[in-house]
Amino acid sequence: MIKTVLVAGAGIVGMSTAIWLQRYGYRVTLVDQAGPASGTSYGNAGVLAAGSVIPVTTPGLLTKAPGMLLRSSQPLFMRPSYLPKLVPFLSKYLAHANRAHVERYAAAMSHLLYDTVEQHRDLAAGTAAAQYINDEDYLFGYDSRAAYEKDQFAWDIRRKNGHEFEVLEGSDLDAVDSFYRRRFPVVVANKNHGKINDPGAYIRALCKVFQSEGGLLHIGKIQDLIKTNGRITGLLTDKATMSADHVVFTLGPWSGEIAKKLGLRIPFESERGYHIELVNPSHMPTAPMMVASGKFVVTPMIGRIRLAGVVEFGGLSAGARKAPLNLLKKNALSLFPDVSFDRIDEWLGHRPTTANSLPLIGALRAFENVFVGFGHQHVGLTGGAKTGRMIAQMIDGQTPNMDLSEFDPNVYAH
Ligand SMILES: Cc1cc2nc3c(=O)[nH]c(=O)nc-3n(C[C@H](O)[C@H](O)[C@H](O)COP(=O)(O)OP(=O)(O)OC[C@H]3O[C@@H](n4cnc5c(N)ncnc54)[C@H](O)[C@@H]3O)c2cc1C
Repeated sequence: MIKTVLVAGAGIVGMSTAIWLQRYGYRVTLVDQAGPASGTSYGNAGVLAAGSVIPVTTPGLLTKAPGMLLRSSQPLFMRPSYLPKLVPFLSKYLAHANRAHVERYAAAMSHLLYDTVEQHRDLAAGTAAAQYINDEDYLFGYDSRAAYEKDQFAWDIRRKNGHEFEVLEGSDLDAVDSFYRRRFPVVVANKNHGKINDPGAYIRALCKVFQSEGGLLHIGKIQDLIKTNGRITGLLTDKATMSADHVVFTLGPWSGEIAKKLGLRIPFESERGYHIELVNPSHMPTAPMMVASGKFVVTPMIGRIRLAGVVEFGGLSAGARKAPLNLLKKNALSLFPDVSFDRIDEWLGHRPTTANSLPLIGALRAFENVFVGFGHQHVGLTGGAKTGRMIAQMIDGQTPNMDLSEFDPNVYAH
């Protein structure tokens, strides 16, 4: 008999899980409160960032953070009223701002991210979604040689983990995307990277393929789990009661409440992030770029330039705030004084973040038919295609070709 699976959450992780399960012969229902790519997977910077293996929690963060929070020109923000709620998480999060943890994190994440472009190409193979995937170097632009040298810690760790990059200065800069030329005296070009030209359209296109192959999409808000004889046998949404042989939770930043119901005690928060888009720009770059001084990413997308970045602690429910958006607008105007455009669109999103910044990927010991895949913080688009594929393999009884012990959700079981 054909086995059935409920996949909760139709972001990149859930979509990839659903498609790979379908390819392995399962009958899959994707459940989302608002449809495919309605969460974080819609508004990210679109970079397939194979080498983004340095967490936010780097040595020195503890001393730098208070000063950054006081200056609205810095990409770190906090809603003051949220501080009491944040403190327990923050103390655990900051405890990871040391070299040993960065090295551990970088090694684990390098295995997850290094083949991201290939993973996305496999996911979208033979479908209309493939048109959104581009091979591109991911550029880092530095204001000075000294600024680049200050980042040596990160580049050394990337090199140690096998990531390839080229440092361009002087006449070498002629090879850089002409849009950025002469704007940065030092540019680092990260190789084996890519971008998704429109993450929302990409995931919606994947969903169409999933549905055309017989997959079901249920739009409904998950309110509870149905437990029978020590198994999670289904989900209760605001529209229906659904059951299946397996249940997969890929709810991104909204995973906290469900995790508690599954018996996982995870220090978990939203790292709020923003984007603005310059719609119908007069001209635009081809490569995505991290502007190192402001820690924001510029990505050319279909019909617009997206600038994404900022880390803000303030929870899932509060709306967007003016200061982070104003910072992105100020950055856009100083970087592109000569670009004209029709309007600016704004977006607030939530990066799903654990205290050690490592995502949870795998089967739960407490409920043998339940799998989770969430917590990919800044790099979920990059790692999402592979995460979904590995979850599908595990459900299908295959062994993923990667050691997943650093991502074991059962370390949080209580
Ligand atoms: C500003 C910004 C820039 C970023 N840039 C990049 C980048 O360049 N590259 C990169 O790799 N990553 C980037 N990221 C991170 C990346 O976007 C996320 O890690 C990734 O999208 C997470 O995917 P997901 O599938 O886990 O979650 P999501 O995409 O958030 O999907 C979760 C889904 O669950 C649904 N859901 C939630 N609760 C319920 C419920 N109760 N019932 C039913 N459905 C529910 C939501 O509607 C949503 O569709 C960025 C993030 C931000 C905020």
